[in-house]
Amino acid sequence: MSDLIQKLASKHLATLKPYESARRLFSGGQDWLNANESPFSNDYDIDSSRFNRYPACQPEQVIGNYSDYVGLNAEQVLVTRGADEGIELLVRTFCTSGESNVLICPPTYGMYAISAETHNIGIKTAPLLEDFSLDIEKIKSFKDSVNLVFICSPNNPTGTSIDQHQLLEVITWFKDSALVVIDEAYIEFDLKNGCSGLLEKHQNLVILRTLSKAFALAGLRCGFTLADASIIQTLLKVIAPYPIAEPVAQIAAKALNSKGIETMNKQVQCLETEKALLKKALMQIPDIELVGNDKANFILFRCKQKQALMDCLVSQGMLIRDQSKQQSLKNCLRISIGSNEQNQRLLAKIASFFEKQESTL
Ligand SMILES: *Cc1c(COP(=O)(O)O)cnc(C)c1O
Repeated sequence: MSDLIQKLASKHLATLKPYESARRLFSGGQDWLNANESPFSNDYDIDSSRFNRYPACQPEQVIGNYSDYVGLNAEQVLVTRGADEGIELLVRTFCTSGESNVLICPPTYGMYAISAETHNIGIKTAPLLEDFSLDIEKIKSFKDSVNLVFICSPNNPTGTSIDQHQLLEVITWFKDSALVVIDEAYIEFDLKNGCSGLLEKHQNLVILRTLSKAFALAGLRCGFTLADASIIQTLLKVIAPYPIAEPVAQIAAKALNSKGIETMNKQVQCLETEKALLKKALMQIPDIELVGNDKANFILFRCKQKQALMDCLVSQGMLIRDQSKQQSLKNCLRISIGSNEQNQRLLAKIASFFEKQESTL
């Protein structure tokens, strides 16, 4: 880096590295089972007649359709450039650079820490317990030291959902001191554990949602923040004037009409069937131990030969995600549920890997 760039860049950025997203780590490959994307791609028509105009900040149809879908009022819904922008907005709006802290519960989704770090916000951690439930006592010990508590449920990458009693205990504990943010990116795979019904009674609760997973629109970059109207109003002070591009708004509105939701539900059912098949097959492999649960569209497993297996799959264009650097996830790999063909291809490659291992012993 040139001296000038080093001198000008914000001091707290010096030690940071760009986020190793699934797409930055690998660009080639034919089977992308590393980013929990949907294997389905749905068709949408676009009307270009308004492309000469700036889009609405909060497109009415998108907000209307999403609030109908979750059963909330429009004032409780904010649409953002992916749930990731929701995370960042919360950090920018409710934390003060160089002063505030957020609380995270690893192993979990990486963007909470990244958003905090890039804004010079401190990170406190209360790791999940051995069964991946919340360490309530530890969480409670941060009562007056954090502004945001991030909880992911179903959790990426463990696939476990947090029990509602635990969530309520945390929400209530922080009611006068912090916002509790529940990331429900995978909630369509575990509907009965959804928390949107708690919003009415709990003004410090924030829920993050996305169209990137069950709705099969990761390329669209569209997510939602659900919260009390006063929180949404405050976030609107910080959000960009035109966060949602017009084509994005058109597609999101269609994905969220009754036909779009029906398609999503069918595709989720299909992925549930695929997940059960994949899980059953993996359980039969002696060297593979399933870890966590299957409440989302991926499976996490531990395997002693993690690196060799990963290298073998990646060299054949079959991309999966290494989670072994995360707290308590030594030797763990995560695979997203793909199409039936992809899953069968994956299983065949894993089987042949273990056959070769045995023959070289
Ligand atoms: C994929 C994912 C997101 C990101 O959603 P986008 O809407 O694509 O930004 C957020 N949280 C979790 C837990 C995820 O796995």
